[in-house]
Amino acid sequence: MTKLLDGKIVRDKIAEKLRSQISRLKPKPRLVIIQVGDLAESNTYIRQKILFGEKIGVIVNHLKFDEKINQENLITQISKLNTDSTVSGIIVQMPIPARLDKDEIIDAIDPKKDVDGLTSTNLKLLWENRSGGFIPATTKGILELLDFYKIPASGKKVIIVGRSFLVGKPTALAFLNRDATVTICHRETKNLKLETRNADILIVAVGKPNLITKDYVNKNQIVIDVGINVIDNTKQETGNKKPETEPVNRKIVGDVDFDSVSKIVKAISPVPGGVGPLTVASLFENLLEAFQNQS
Ligand code: NAP
Repeated sequence: MTKLLDGKIVRDKIAEKLRSQISRLKPKPRLVIIQVGDLAESNTYIRQKILFGEKIGVIVNHLKFDEKINQENLITQISKLNTDSTVSGIIVQMPIPARLDKDEIIDAIDPKKDVDGLTSTNLKLLWENRSGGFIPATTKGILELLDFYKIPASGKKVIIVGRSFLVGKPTALAFLNRDATVTICHRETKNLKLETRNADILIVAVGKPNLITKDYVNKNQIVIDVGINVIDNTKQETGNKKPETEPVNRKIVGDVDFDSVSKIVKAISPVPGGVGPLTVASLFENLLEAFQNQS
């Protein structure tokens, strides 16, 4: 029978451990989340982070800037937070407007406070398989999910679909560091099915609902679905577009067609309730580590 890799169970265990550790700390770790603009998805992700922070007893501040903020002003704000000793961690919620230089903005964060692990200093440590840096939260979440369910990566063929700086690439490095044989697939990959069917562990981070159907998998696989896609459920069910006046019935799905794939593979993470909750929990594990390193 297919095993469900339930991220909420793992998240709750991590939350309990963090809450207990943080209850003994004074002052409390403090995370600052920087947002540029007002994207609905970003608002949702930030709300989840604030709620988790409240649950475990840390301080989370949300700094929301107008989408017209310029590069220099934003970097000045980050520099102030870098030197503020009451701030343990800083993240910039992605995406930010394309006119801003994302790399320069991320690299403005002090690597010691970069709890999203996306500065070039922290990514270089991951690249070199050296300790002392922060692993990006989603990558760390995937590793924690596999660890909890005692699924080793060493010697396994890990196929990652998606090569983003946020998920695909750091995840590939992390699995390489765990002695897996790693292949990264993307839009130009010829015969994606052939690649994905070859995986022991298939990780999908694309952002395309139901890209991976039963034809892309085999019965011995572990499938990790990172995708978060909001679809119009009514439209899916009927195949017709709803009239504008009717409320839209929204549903969150991953990149994997869960209904068909879960009948075949050995284990699969659901969406929602798989990697997502662990991404949030991992961010706060990094925050506690940052706090301890700075104390
Ligand atoms: P992204 O920056 O848009 O990258 C998407 C990647 O998918 C790109 O590398 C792209 O290839 C590849 N791709 C697109 N269409 C493809 C296709 N038909 N076949 C093969 N590869 C294809 O997205 P992202 O930031 O990595 O996020 C990916 C998904 O994960 C999104 O749904 C996002 O919401 C979700 N996400 C979830 C979490 C979580 O905590 N669960 C965290 C972060 C992101 P090219 O490089 O060739 O364009």
